[in-house]
Amino acid sequence: MLERTQFLGAENVALIDCGGRVLARDIVASAQLPAFPSSAVDGYAVRAADAGKALRVVGESAAGRPFDRAVEQGVAVRILTGGVLPAGADCVVMLEDVKLDGDAVTVPGGLKPGQNFHAPGADLQAGERVLPAGVQLGAAEIGLAAALGLAELPVGRRPRVALMSTGDELVEVGERPGRGQIPDSNRWALLAALREAGAEVRLLGVGPDEPEALRRLVSGALAEADVLVTSGGVSVGTHDLVKPLLESLGDVHVGRVKLKPGKPFTFATLPDGKLAFGLPGFPVSSLVTFEVFVRPALRKMQGHAQLNRPTLPVRLGYDARATADRTEYQRVTLKRDGRDLVAVSTGSQSSSRLMSLAGAHALLRIPPGDQGLNEGTMVEAMILSLP
Ligand code: AMP
Ligand code: MG
Repeated sequence: MLERTQFLGAENVALIDCGGRVLARDIVASAQLPAFPSSAVDGYAVRAADAGKALRVVGESAAGRPFDRAVEQGVAVRILTGGVLPAGADCVVMLEDVKLDGDAVTVPGGLKPGQNFHAPGADLQAGERVLPAGVQLGAAEIGLAAALGLAELPVGRRPRVALMSTGDELVEVGERPGRGQIPDSNRWALLAALREAGAEVRLLGVGPDEPEALRRLVSGALAEADVLVTSGGVSVGTHDLVKPLLESLGDVHVGRVKLKPGKPFTFATLPDGKLAFGLPGFPVSSLVTFEVFVRPALRKMQGHAQLNRPTLPVRLGYDARATADRTEYQRVTLKRDGRDLVAVSTGSQSSSRLMSLAGAHALLRIPPGDQGLNEGTMVEAMILSLP
């Protein structure tokens, strides 16, 4: 699937909207930081050679208001944090370390050049790569760009995703379900998951279990979308219409997977490089297959360097039974035990039981077979969040 997924291209975005976006090109510093010798403390700018002497205070260098003459022998300039170290001075003495007497200041002995100020280029050098393409922009990265004077950044375009639930049993959340009806919970779960993965989502609502109406709804929405995500309607029952629909619109590459939960997961490519993911209807199945297949694809479209969730070795705190012919993604919470993280099952792993995923810290891959994994085995966990 990932090999059929392409980067969507870059766009320039103002810093105000860069949070969570993915940088599309390396950022190289065009100038050094700090740009000038900048005081780290409040005190006096002096020559280290004047250590131990009483010096005449001839002016002040405050942040943004430099002192524009040089500091000569026998002279000090009052300086505030962020103020430019005046020419001639080679160190700053902290306010706490001097004795003031009228306009004379006595500085301690043993001063060293370079003390208490940030030299130009100490934080970063001109030409240094400060941010690599593929990083997600958080507070520090955006601050760094701003410190370098960049008002906008090249970032990967967000995938536009059309999201549709299917099933005649579904009612809008908040409406009272009639007999045999249930609220459309997948829409809201998948909307949250899609947004976390960086997508711009258009909600198509509930598609009916009727082929022509379903086709009209999907065809109309595809004009404006890069990706179609559906839930339900992909198993083999007579009302499962998504697979035939995707077959008629494009090429179905995956029609089922050896996964538990999520066997009927379907993947298709559509004209113009668009993708379609037909997720199973069961709430846990739709979210687990989203994690395994859709989230990495959406991240690749945005140019993310890191497509998958981070993993950590954890110790199984229970006997994990395997499924004979399918890899099982079990949901667990993690707790600390000495140096180890221990995985504890979230209880019944039924694909309809969202409680098995709510609050889960990780997914564990249990390989197929008749063996399972015994309590105490070390396994690599896909981390969703840490305790
Ligand atoms: P399906 O794949 O359409 O056969 O659906 C499998 C199960 O998931 C059925 O019990 C459906 O009622 C349930 N289901 C399907 N879509 C949703 C949805 N949007 N929200 C909650 N449950 C759903
Ligand atoms: Mg259905």
